[in-house]
Amino acid sequence: MEMFIDGAWVAAKSGATDPVTDPSTSEVFDTVPRAGAVEADIAINAAQAAFQDWSQRTMAERVAVLKTCGKAMLESAEVLGAALHRELGRPLAGCIAEIKSSAALLDIYTEEGLRLHGEMPIAGGAGEKTIITREPVGVVVAITPFNFPITLLMFKLGAALTAGCTVVAKPSEDTPTSTLLLAEIFHKAGLPKGAFNVVTGSGLEVGEALVNHPIPRKIAFTGGGVAGKAIAAAAAGTVKRVTLELGGHCPAIVCADADLDKATTAIARHGTANSGQFCYRVNRIYVERAIYEEFLDKLTAKVSALTLAPAGGEGDLGPMVNEKIFANSVRQSEDARDKGARVLCGGSRVTGAGYDDGFYFPPTILADVTDEMLVLQRETFGPVLGICVVDSAREALERANNSEYGLAGFVFCRDLAKGIMLCEGLEAGLVWLNDIQRSSHYAPFGGVKQSGMGREKGRWGVESYLEYKTIYLSYEVPE
Ligand code: NAD
Repeated sequence: MEMFIDGAWVAAKSGATDPVTDPSTSEVFDTVPRAGAVEADIAINAAQAAFQDWSQRTMAERVAVLKTCGKAMLESAEVLGAALHRELGRPLAGCIAEIKSSAALLDIYTEEGLRLHGEMPIAGGAGEKTIITREPVGVVVAITPFNFPITLLMFKLGAALTAGCTVVAKPSEDTPTSTLLLAEIFHKAGLPKGAFNVVTGSGLEVGEALVNHPIPRKIAFTGGGVAGKAIAAAAAGTVKRVTLELGGHCPAIVCADADLDKATTAIARHGTANSGQFCYRVNRIYVERAIYEEFLDKLTAKVSALTLAPAGGEGDLGPMVNEKIFANSVRQSEDARDKGARVLCGGSRVTGAGYDDGFYFPPTILADVTDEMLVLQRETFGPVLGICVVDSAREALERANNSEYGLAGFVFCRDLAKGIMLCEGLEAGLVWLNDIQRSSHYAPFGGVKQSGMGREKGRWGVESYLEYKTIYLSYEVPE
């Protein structure tokens, strides 16, 4: 594929390309341009030109166009889902669901846009008025990771376009094709050329060029902490606004009175979804001693029942996206085993017909883990759960918070007072009590500590692409 800039497909000026690989077979099935500073500049200028018109349209006009884009996205859900499945490896049904859910988020952003308003304090004297309005921040650069390419793009794109901004997106090197297809779908649905451009290539080349460019006014980034910190530092050079959704290493606390059937069902699902490749998954679990073995038995039964879909076949979970991400699960499992953890299921690469050429790591439960093991210290981004026993909920809370991350936390506890104490005590932007539902499109999403800054989704998402402007009016009051 080529890049989608200013309403047209374009190659890199150099002609250079990068391969796109099917993670279930390691087969290269497509290439995308390897863009650099030249293409970043072209795309940003296209977005800047489009901003002049798009930002001046009424909210109702923008919403009408974006609703048509959302409808086109739903009509193309199978095609987009298939592209996502090919580049990411997640089973097809889950990829189609991602497209539909992202279209729903776009719809919610547009509805929030229609409800936005300015303010006017009533404190002024005669002949004075102060209008507080909000304006789109300008051209936005959206840089996204591989794991939910369309969802995490829509967190940014839908909000930015609703607010009146225009966007240059830079998808992950692993999963660029679904984002490219989406740009053409939006353009054909009526989004003006230049409003949503996509450049492809490495973070260190085209990514840095986008961040350093003088025109964009905001960088919206989801990805790892290393890249996030580099982007925040670079953006400071031109004082760009920054939203960072970075890594997570999310704790669950399971109290002795918890509903263990519910807790283990939720953790088995949430800890392994997308083969563990998502930021707010349960990663480490602190379980009160009285129910520790029963919890392990129930969780192991549910996690070991999950199946891995071989290349071209059916199953609950797909391969890891690439060797680097795969190697992290291997390393953390081996480290825990070497330091004395019990491996209750999984723990090493899956091989055999349909698996040998992909990065298949099975859902893995490590019990009796201790604080010096990597699985309790560093984000796994794989289907590995580290579980330790604790003697009190207070101990669990202290150990859960002993982390540089602060994205999400989970509490299972029938005693509501204790449960709320734990939810309030967890240092995280998102906390679930007694079950784990999907994160709501209507609520703010984001982390504290080194998991990031800023919030996406809901009205908070749209508001983060607007800047306040105060207009002071003076006029002669007629006699
Ligand atoms: P990554 O940080 O390697 O890459 C993310 C994106 O940033 C890619 O498009 C990459 O090309 C680009 N990039 C890298 N360095 C850059 C630089 N210096 N300048 C500009 N762009 C740069 O992340 P990944 O491996 O694709 O995804 C996994 C990570 O994403 C995990 O750490 C995970 O926790 C995080 N993540 C966070 C959230 C969240 O909402 N908090 C959601 C999903 C994933």
